[in-house]
Amino acid sequence: MASYLLGLTGGIGSGKTTVANLFQARGINLVDADIIAREVVEPGSEGLQAITEHFGVSILQADGTLDRAKLREQIFADDNKRLWLNNLLHPMIRNTMLASAQKAESAYVIMVVPLLFENGLDRLVDRTLVVDISPELQINRTAKRDNVSEVQVASIVASQISREQRLARANDIIDNRGVMAELDAQVEHLHQKYLALAASKTKNE
Ligand code: ADP
Repeated sequence: MASYLLGLTGGIGSGKTTVANLFQARGINLVDADIIAREVVEPGSEGLQAITEHFGVSILQADGTLDRAKLREQIFADDNKRLWLNNLLHPMIRNTMLASAQKAESAYVIMVVPLLFENGLDRLVDRTLVVDISPELQINRTAKRDNVSEVQVASIVASQISREQRLARANDIIDNRGVMAELDAQVEHLHQKYLALAASKTKNE
């Protein structure tokens, strides 16, 4: 059971997934907040049951899955609904993430959480790691990856905490403005550091 938790975050397109994969290649288990956020509202889940009771069956698509676009529209227009939904889902996501981190068998475990600081999930982890690039690169790489407009990406960047705020709250920072080989070298260096931190935490427990 892994008892040392690292929270990996960064703005959209900063390279979180790329960095997480480099740690995974070194045998480190990942817990992905985006995947868990989808799992807690899967058909048959307690989460989807509660949402259907609150919003009505019109919130479901014909195949019984959640109509995310409709839900987004509804909570965008109504603060109370947004609050209700967050109060329902955030504890479920948090508990599921912790449970799955506890099952991990690597020396430490990484939680990949796009909105780590925005949602206060940094309180759950031993240490935070931020992947950093400039807003220009963020917009450029994401627009290419998702085949969407730069304007669209810029509005998502603006909705997240600022680069400065994120960096101020980071314990460690990876600079992902360079090429992949530079990224891998930084990951290797941090991996050694986290192995040592995890070992000393286990020893002191
Ligand atoms: P995030 O998970 O933070 O949204 P990704 O890991 O998906 O970001 O990276 C965004 C895009 O940038 C992807 O298409 C990825 O392949 C690319 N990318 C990541 N790091 C680099 C890099 N160092 N050089 C060039 N492209 C990169």
